[in-house]
Amino acid sequence: MFKRVGFIGMGIMGQPMARNILKAGYEIMVYNRTYDKTIPLAMVGARVGMTPREVGEWADVVMLMVTGPEAIDAVLDGDDGLLKGMSNGGLIVNMSTVPPSYTRGLAARLKTYSIILIDAPVSGSKKPAEDATLIILASGPREQIKRLESLFLTMGKRVVYCGETGQGSAMKMVVNLLLAVMVAGLSEAVSLAEDLDLDIETVLDTILSGPMGCSLFNLKADMLKNDVFPPQFPLKHMAKDLGFVINTAKECGADIFIGQSVLRLYDNAMKKGLGDQDVAAVKKIVNSLED
Ligand code: NAP
Repeated sequence: MFKRVGFIGMGIMGQPMARNILKAGYEIMVYNRTYDKTIPLAMVGARVGMTPREVGEWADVVMLMVTGPEAIDAVLDGDDGLLKGMSNGGLIVNMSTVPPSYTRGLAARLKTYSIILIDAPVSGSKKPAEDATLIILASGPREQIKRLESLFLTMGKRVVYCGETGQGSAMKMVVNLLLAVMVAGLSEAVSLAEDLDLDIETVLDTILSGPMGCSLFNLKADMLKNDVFPPQFPLKHMAKDLGFVINTAKECGADIFIGQSVLRLYDNAMKKGLGDQDVAAVKKIVNSLED
């Protein structure tokens, strides 16, 4: 139904997602603030836009997969911004992780330009993005999400309809709260195992072969075993997302005690310069927490 797909943000997630759209036969134009990251996509047949505006002028629908609210605003605004390229209205699909309140504000702002926002963050990290097994947490006008379904399914294995605009981001807050707690929990367990002189391979094998064996822990096990943390989901994004979760909880009057404690861990890890490593690098500081 959509022929020309614009894709802005060629980071860890955006690159494989755009590649899967291209593989499925869509025409695609990609843009990235740092031009070099568009080269791998250009080499497999993607057009490269020099500005977000150019992407907006060319595409039928534009996907965003950038860091967060500041990055989205930077992409939208200015003379070379996406909004200038979409002066006749259109459809923007935000797949970046942002707070639900930002999403609702963005939808209202875009409406004044006759642009419809689809809120569609994803559950899953680099490997699911490569394997096209992400879960798309979509919210907004249902008929538009229906139109987008086949495009979404080039990147993911399932589209979950979450409700009115902003509820996809709300679902993502819930998912990432659990993710933050689970990774911190596994890291602390492995750190304790080290202090107890247990064999880490046996510890991880015991955890993974029992009721706590899950794909998340499987993805992190080798990193924890080898103490090397190449970024699949950078720790700086976990800290950012958990900050969004805490603020979102405050806005709706919810108490999230465990999330608050875990945020201290990630903030400490950031102070120790671990932000660009994978989120599982939180293990390096779990037993040396500072105030
Ligand atoms: P990433 O590798 O750090 O990429 C971030 C992207 O945002 C880059 O393309 C970057 O451009 C762009 N960007 C940042 N600031 C910008 C600005 N001011 N103007 C224009 N572009 C800007 O991040 P990622 O891991 O792909 O994550 C992207 C989004 O998906 C985030 O919201 C993240 O929370 C979410 N997410 C990530 C994962 C994961 O496992 N990695 C999983 C689910 C959801 P440059 O290259 O120029 O810096």
